[in-house]
Formats: sequence, structure tokens, C-alpha cells
Amino acid sequence: MGPDKSPGPDGITARFYQQHWDIVGEGVVTQIRKIFVEGHVPDEWLQCTVTLIPKIKEPDMPSQYRPISIGNVLYRLVMKIVATRLRRHLKGVISHEQNAFMKGRNIVENIIVVRETLQSFKQKNFKQPAFMLKVDVSKAFDKIEWDFLAKAMIYLNVPLNMVNLMLSCYRRAQVSLTINGKRDGFIIPTRGLRQGCPMSPYVFIMAMEMLSRLMSKTQREGNLKGIKLAHSSPVITHIMYADDLVIFGDAHRREIDTINSLLNHFGKASGLKMNPEKSTFWASRACDQAAVHRVMNNLQASVAEGEDKYLGAVIEGGRSGMKTGKMLLEKMRAKLNGWRAQMLSHAGRMVMIKSVLMSLPVYYMSMECVPKSIVKQMNSLMARFFWGKPAEGRYMAPIAWKTICQPVEEGGLDVRDLNIFGETLFMKLVWDVISNEEKLWVQICKSKYCPHIGFWKAKENSNCSKMWRNIIQRRVFFETNVHWCIGNGVDIKAVGQPWFSGWEQQGQVPLRNRKKVIADLYDFNASCWKMEELNAIFNPAQVIQILNSQTVPKRDGGLKDTMIWNQSKKGKYNVKEGYQLMYNQRRVQTTSAASDLWVAIQRWKIIPKVKIFLWRLISGALMLSNNVHRRISAVSPMCQRCGEENEFESHFFFFCHDSRAVWFASNLGLRTQDLSMNIVAAVRQCIGQMNGEEEKIFSYTLWEIWKARNDAVINQKRFDPIQIQRKVDSWGRFDLEGEEHILQLVKERVQDRYWYQHDGYQVILDGSWDMKNNSGSAFVIYKEGELLWIGYKNHTAMDPFHAEVKAVREAMEHLWKIGLQNQQIEIFSDCKNLVEAINENDIENLPSWRARQEVMEVIEVITQFGDKLQLKHVRREAIYQAHILANLARSTGRSFTGVPRYWHNDESQIELRISNRFFQKVQEAPP
Ligand SMILES: [Zn+2]
Repeated sequence: MGPDKSPGPDGITARFYQQHWDIVGEGVVTQIRKIFVEGHVPDEWLQCTVTLIPKIKEPDMPSQYRPISIGNVLYRLVMKIVATRLRRHLKGVISHEQNAFMKGRNIVENIIVVRETLQSFKQKNFKQPAFMLKVDVSKAFDKIEWDFLAKAMIYLNVPLNMVNLMLSCYRRAQVSLTINGKRDGFIIPTRGLRQGCPMSPYVFIMAMEMLSRLMSKTQREGNLKGIKLAHSSPVITHIMYADDLVIFGDAHRREIDTINSLLNHFGKASGLKMNPEKSTFWASRACDQAAVHRVMNNLQASVAEGEDKYLGAVIEGGRSGMKTGKMLLEKMRAKLNGWRAQMLSHAGRMVMIKSVLMSLPVYYMSMECVPKSIVKQMNSLMARFFWGKPAEGRYMAPIAWKTICQPVEEGGLDVRDLNIFGETLFMKLVWDVISNEEKLWVQICKSKYCPHIGFWKAKENSNCSKMWRNIIQRRVFFETNVHWCIGNGVDIKAVGQPWFSGWEQQGQVPLRNRKKVIADLYDFNASCWKMEELNAIFNPAQVIQILNSQTVPKRDGGLKDTMIWNQSKKGKYNVKEGYQLMYNQRRVQTTSAASDLWVAIQRWKIIPKVKIFLWRLISGALMLSNNVHRRISAVSPMCQRCGEENEFESHFFFFCHDSRAVWFASNLGLRTQDLSMNIVAAVRQCIGQMNGEEEKIFSYTLWEIWKARNDAVINQKRFDPIQIQRKVDSWGRFDLEGEEHILQLVKERVQDRYWYQHDGYQVILDGSWDMKNNSGSAFVIYKEGELLWIGYKNHTAMDPFHAEVKAVREAMEHLWKIGLQNQQIEIFSDCKNLVEAINENDIENLPSWRARQEVMEVIEVITQFGDKLQLKHVRREAIYQAHILANLARSTGRSFTGVPRYWHNDESQIELRISNRFFQKVQEAPP
């Protein structure tokens, strides 16, 4: 459990129990055991507070409040145990039509079923007058009837003691409302599920399962026809994703009446009623006007007009790839508008690209092939952001985006190539078709498009949906690297599927052989292949291959036949390995000359922005006059400082007088006059014998020389070797090693925050102070619950309060810098005096007079941020990350803003986080 998620009405958080487990642990365990034995949760555990948080400034309607319910920690613990047990149970009882909250079942499947239906509806050869109804089950969580739930759970074989336990919790719960910070009386709820209770999603799908079963039963009894998209297609009557219900039906009167009465019946019993205003339907081509009106009048739904969306995805039209792509492009632009590239280093921009921008397309690209032209625009947006250029207008990219997308070993920055990434995401669908016959969408597509010949030989035709065409076009990716792992041999067709090495597509095969599976070719009694069968189907060379292969079907082994993707250890397709493979297949660019140098630099213990600077240096991406001249001949190639030679890298960094003076003063002892004219060779010469400390000094010296040049060019400052030396020395004091574990700690605690579900930005901050007046301030910025940025700084302060003020001030300045004015921002501090002083604009009662001036300044800055910024007081535990960072800054004298390099290698987590977040969104009931 997240230690700092909301505390119970008693004010105790999960952290309390976790930290004092040695004292309270035994008691808690005993009590919870007792609960599961007796089926009775103590009354005080069931108390729950609902806090109404106004959505707007002066609300006067109940709907303008957002209710947040706060349950007792121990109660949530009990429910979590129940939920864990129930989840295991549910896997066996929830039908295939439901896809939400179930492991291994995926939202994308529902979208495809809906799309394929619409596609069929438009075809001439689809003769059934049918309709597809998107049902809005309004306010689903709040309306559900408990009696119904109890019956549903019992029906689904949930153990009786658990049912009783849950029901008694629901029935005896007392909810008190908190408005404007005051608790007000008790409400005894009579129906509905608790938001945020770990049980609620599972209980909800159990309720929906009742409808699902009711419909399936009616269909089996012949009273519901449903639709069949092709002759051998499975009948579909409905699919569900949480409270998203889609019903498929025949447009005849009897069917419509049946559906209507089913929905009414279910609605009355469960409390989950259909909301006609928000329900829409599509009719097939074979429906006449009368049929359409029948659906409209009897089910009170309206015709879905034009384009519509289902679960956030575009579902209609052949150009859905383009539409989705444009939507993605817009999302990306919107993100970029909120950031100011100029305020971030190249390393910082890289982090934003890798962790935020690249994760945007994951959901959409896993069901859609976005056109190359759009991907190109997305790449261009990212490149512009990386080089700090505006989104429009001409500019010159020092290094091609393609190179940046190469892995480090090839001299790149290891950004994923969006073209390949998108392809590998989509490949998951292809893999599903190859490996997973059971998925509903796979069954539908196979029966629609290749009922007789098998997937490997299926051809595209004009009746195919765009998605299927994309799948067919991509199956070649798997053709040579999948094979069947033979189990009992009953799932593998002898023809048309690769099951031995040397397998290839065959020409005409007699009909009677097409249906044969491997088990038919094997004589289990004699333990050998049936030769005449083999010879009838395969050519002699293939027969020898089969006889030589070690694997034969085993009748009693009971193992299922499985498709193996031999590029992966696990044998299953996954995006990461798929990306590797596709990248290698498509690699055209040769490794750059500097790549081994770049690999070596990766291991240096220097901060990321300097590392990326070195990459730019050795890749020829620095805008030195000589480099600019090669592209724009009007620009003089001469050195801006000495004017004697061309400004190429070696000259500028090593040979030019001022730079030589810097190296002369440095204790590295480099003989710069001996270095190569080629920068890559020169750097190699320099670092030959260096130790870690020297590598650091070397890199920071180059960095400072570069910064000084820009200062000279832009701000007309004098190039001062002594100044540079001093700066390099101050870099030298840094020892990033020591910080590593603290930063790791900050990162690992990311999931613990209780504001996880809020929108906008959240900032936690803290100040730290000691008796010698050393102080440190720190802030951590989250965006929609994801860690975005940290900063910590060393100062001197007069007293602890003063340190806190500095912390707010630093954070505000940074937020301003990165352009977050008028964004929804919540700032959390544990300094109550300060929060009150700022919020009430009152500097008369400060605990320390010394900070008066600065508090006034902070108030001024905050006012400029507008109404959407809120400063809130929280307990110290809630700002733990900022707290330890502030201590770090105070005790070590260090400062840092950005994203630490230790956090970079977690791209594999992104996908996961995205799906978690999606999950979260689904879990929240509609407002
Ligand atoms: Zn020069």
C-alpha cells in the first residue's frame, strides 16, 4: 500500500503501520485474521469521509464539487486482501466478452471488434439487417444495488464468507461529508460502490458479468440472434470494457424487443440503467428505414452520425490511421507548447523526449499504422525541440534525427526510431493472429478474410479492412522466425503452418489434406510417422526434414501446441525484442567514426548535459564557424577569437591561443600542440591514459571553453582563461557517486504519492537548515503523477523558516522559467506558517522577521501565476523526497536541476506506466 496515500478519517496513514510494524504488526495481523474468521469488520474501520472539493471557485451546485472519499487504512487493507483473492477467482468466471481489469485481456481487442463490425456493415455482401449499439451505463459505480451484487457474487461462486464480509462492510459503512474542512453528520449509503476501494472494479465487473451471461444464455436459447460477420464467424451479441457496453443485434422487431427487455430487466435488478441520450447505434447496409426507426424508437438511442470514437480510438473510416496520426501530432504539439526548450539543457530535452513524447503514441500505434508522413512530422517536432528551435520555420539541424535514433554503440543517443517503434507495436496484432486463435477479434478476422486457406496464404483484397491489410503486409516479418513447438499436435495444421525446419509455403494441396493436423500424420501406437501420409503431402526433402526433427507429437503429454517466436528467449513476441530485430534488419547507416569514443564517454561520471555536449562535439554538431560555413558559404569559416585559422573543433578547443592558455593552466598536463587536427582523434589522444577524475576535469574544461565562447559571441563577454579554470575547479568538487543512492531513493518512492489521480502539475518542496546557517532547498515536480523534474540548491539562511521561504522561492522561479504560468499547479509544503502567510497574504505574523522581504517577493510571484496555482500544507511525510534532497543540498553544498542520469534507463517502464494510467482513468467513474 502506498504509505502516503490519503490517511483514514482517524488521520493515520499506511506509513504509520509500515514504520511501526514491529509494534503494531502483530495486533493488526491478529485482528485481520479474526475478521476473516468471523466475517465482521469493526464499525470504526468502516467510517469513511467524503471530502467535497470545489471544481470551480464559488460552487453553488452539488455537481460542481468533486467528491474524494477517504477510507480507513485498515479497511483498505482488508479489501486489498479480498481483492487479491477475488482476482484469482475471477479469471475463471469472467466471460470473453469482458476485457477490463483482466490480465492478458486487452482494450485494443474491443476496439478492433467494433471496427471490424462497422467495416462489415458497409459491405454489400453482408446481408444481415443488423445494428451495433453503444450503451451508456450512466453513473455506473454509484447506482449499483447491493442485493444484486450479493446474488451475482454467489452465482459466480465467490466463497460465501467473502460475500458476507463485503456486504456487511457496504451495509454498515458510515459516510460523513466534509465541506470546507468541517465534518458534517453521517450518511448511511444504500447502494453504490466506493471510489478508490480496491474491491470496487472487481465487484463492478461481476455485476456486469450477470448481463453478459444473461445475453449469452438468451442467445443460446435461440431468442437472440446477435450478428455473424462471416459464415464461420462466432456469433457476437455484446462486448464490454468496464462500463462501456456495446450490443450487437439483428434489426428485427423480436430481437430489439428482447434486447430492450433484457436491459430493462438488468437495469431494474442491478440499478445500472441505460442512458438513452448518450447511447448511439450504427445500422448495417441491409437495414431499411423501417429497421433503423425500430431501433431508434424501441431502444431510444440515436443514430451515430459521422465519425465516432470508442474507448478513445477512432473507429470509423478507412483513413483512421491518418486521423489517429493527426490526433497524436496535436497531442505532441500541445505537450511541447507547455515546455520551453531554451530553459532546458540538451540532456534535459532528451529526457523529455524519451520519457514523455515517445510514450504518447504507444496506445494508438498498437492498433493503427500511422502514415509515414505523420511520423515524419512527429520526428521533426521532436528534433526541433531537441535543438531548441521553434515548431515552425526553417532551421538547420546539426545532426540528422536518424543519427540521434541510433544506439549509443553506433554513435547515437538511443532514441527509438518512431517508424520502427510504431511498426513493432502494431506487430503485436500480427503475432496475435499467428499465435492466438482464441481471441475474439482473431476469430472474427480469420473467418472474415481467410476462412479456408489459413493466414499464411491469405491474400489482400478490396473487401479487407485497412487493419487486416496492414496485418497481411507485415506477416513476412514473422515468416522466417516462427515455428510451432509441437505438443499434442492437434492444433497444428499439417499444411499452411510452419512446424518443421525447412518448411515452406506449398502450392495446391488436395482438399482432404488441408484439414489434417500433425496428430493425424503420426502413429501413436507404433511411435512413428505415417509414411504414406507424409509422402502424400510433402516432397522428399521435406519428409527427410520431418523425420530428422527430434520433436514428435505426444498424445498423453497433454501439452498444447504453442507458436514460438525464435527471436525471443521466452518464445513470445514482445516489442523490445521486436524493435531490436527490425532495427537490425533496416539498418542502413554505418556506425560513425566516433562511436567507440562515445561508448567510452557513456561510462564517465559526468553530468548528462556535459555528456551530450561531448557527443555534439565529436559528432561535429557544434555550431563552430567552420561547420556553419560548410552549409552556408556566406558565413566566414574563420575563428571568431584569433581570426588566424578556420574555426574547426581542434583549433577552437585546443590550438587557439586562449584555449591553449586554459589547458596550460590546468593540471592535466596536456600537450595540445601535438594533438590531431581531427577532433575525434584528438580527444582519443587526450583521454588515452586518464583516470576518472581526469576525465571529469577534461570534459568540464571543454564544456567551460564552449560556454565561454557563446558568452563571448552572444553577450560580448571577454574570454578569460582564469575564470574558466576556476569554474572547472568548482565542477571538480562534485562527486556524483554519493548522490546516487539518494536520487535512487527519490525515484523509487514515486508511486507512493496520494495525489496520484490529480490532473496538472504537483510540486513538493522543502527547506533544510543547520546551526551553521547552511541551508538547502529542493523541489520535485510531477505532472499528472509522473515524476518530471527535480532541483536542489545550496544556500545560506538565517533560520529554518528562512530556509523554507527560499525553497518556495526557488521552486517558483523554476516553474516560471519552464513556462508553467496559468497551468494547474498544486504546491505542497510542510511549513504551515509559510503556507498560511502566503495564502492569507499576511506577513505580520511570521515566525521569523528576517524572511519578511522574501516572503513578500514570493507572494508577488505567486500572484502572477494566476488562480490555478494552489499552495497547500501537508505533513512532512508527504514531501519526503524534497526533504531528503534539501538535506543533500545542505550537507554537501551541491546544486542540481534536471533529471538525474541514473533515472534514464527505464523505458521499459513507460509502457507499463501508460497502461497503469489508462487503467486508472477507466477506474474513475464518469463525473
Ligand atoms: Zn582561434
